[in-house]
Amino acid sequence: MAVAEKAAQKQAQPKETTNPYESMIQRFDVAAKIIGLDEETYNILKTPQRQYVVSLPVAMDNGKVQVFEGYRIIHNTSRGPSKGGIRYALEVNQDEVKALAAWMTWKCAIADIPYGGAKGGITVDASKLSLGELERLTRAYTRAMVDVFGVDKDIPAPDVATGPREMAWIVDEFSRMQGSFQPGVVTGKPLHLGGSEGRVEATGRGVNTAALEAMRQMRLDPRKATAAVQGFGNVGSISAKYMEDAGLRIVAISDHTGAFSNSKGISIGDAIKYRNANNGVLKGFTGGKLISNEELLALDVDVLAPCALENQIRQANAADVKAQLIVEGANGPTTAGADKILQEKGIIVVPDILANGGGVTVSYMEWTQNRFGYYYAEDEINKRADRSMSRAFENVWAVGKKYKVSMRIAAYIFALEKVAKAVQSRGHY
Ligand code: NAD
Repeated sequence: MAVAEKAAQKQAQPKETTNPYESMIQRFDVAAKIIGLDEETYNILKTPQRQYVVSLPVAMDNGKVQVFEGYRIIHNTSRGPSKGGIRYALEVNQDEVKALAAWMTWKCAIADIPYGGAKGGITVDASKLSLGELERLTRAYTRAMVDVFGVDKDIPAPDVATGPREMAWIVDEFSRMQGSFQPGVVTGKPLHLGGSEGRVEATGRGVNTAALEAMRQMRLDPRKATAAVQGFGNVGSISAKYMEDAGLRIVAISDHTGAFSNSKGISIGDAIKYRNANNGVLKGFTGGKLISNEELLALDVDVLAPCALENQIRQANAADVKAQLIVEGANGPTTAGADKILQEKGIIVVPDILANGGGVTVSYMEWTQNRFGYYYAEDEINKRADRSMSRAFENVWAVGKKYKVSMRIAAYIFALEKVAKAVQSRGHY
């Protein structure tokens, strides 16, 4: 570890935290110290610009009204309108959304797209709601955010437990309230409603590109490598499929119902088919031996791709990780405390704000297509997205070499320098 990073971490990283916002701030502090960020800009970027907390009364199928809590947090808009997904999960809380919003600011800067960062969420177990309840909840959230969202203001997208279906409801509700069709108000829409080719696959495709770039630097042949993927939703399953296509042997996959390992390799196509026919979960999958998610993280593989939720690799289990490379499909899967242990073990971590930026990159292309009214073919989108991820990887890798820091800190430095410049040239008041 470089002297500058060691010294900065010593001061800024006193103890393990699983609070995602504190975890974000700990890395931000290290990067800010290394580049000598001035106090004014530091204070501006440390805090979100706006935080909305709304209560959403929804008529449930049983005739009763249930009130849900929803959030939208705009971290920073210095580089453009804010962008970030909407998450439906019981764990959603203000600090989580704050962290996710800040990560979007850094991610857009690294991917070099002209957006700021935001995130939204509703504290709900979406799997317990009927289709009608889910639609009424999504529409209630959109109405509550009608002054927040906007094609040139704040543009949501899917995240955990939301997808094209929810985005279509948002477009419809928002367009009705505005009195005109506004497809550019969200991305990740269905194709027939102004969605982009390649958007559904974009995050997983980018995770694979980032993994291959890292493996090239590490001189690791993908055709001789093994991988374990945690999470089998949009990001996990599609990352696994692309990695399999690139020649890696996927020896373990998992979701919240369990993990499955098979040293001969799991057919990802079969696993996706099984999940799709099984209420979206892997429970009962017979293509591998049932293990726990903790065991999956400690498997003796070359590549580990955490693609589920935050805080999966912590101080307590980081020493057990045997992979040489971690590619973070999820946001915040590694705590700041675990970073240090992984680095001391010589494990390369391609951080979330770089590795999963493929999604927002194609979201940006979706938004520009909506504004143009002209749509690109899938190969054109994929070519641009692949180029963008490879360039972002090279940029962060170069910063890592320059400052002799981990890829995580390099990514924060790269993003921070860019966002700080925008903040400073627009001026403080
Ligand atoms: P998703 O809802 O499609 O899938 C989430 C998956 O994680 C599911 O398979 C679920 O069963 C699994 N999971 C939940 N808890 C788990 C646990 N404890 N152990 C193992 N698996 C568990 O969500 P997604 O869109 O794939 O998002 C996953 C992660 O990727 C999130 O951190 C999200 O913020 C991030 N991300 C998503 C996108 C995107 O385009 N969808 C883009 C960038 C980052």
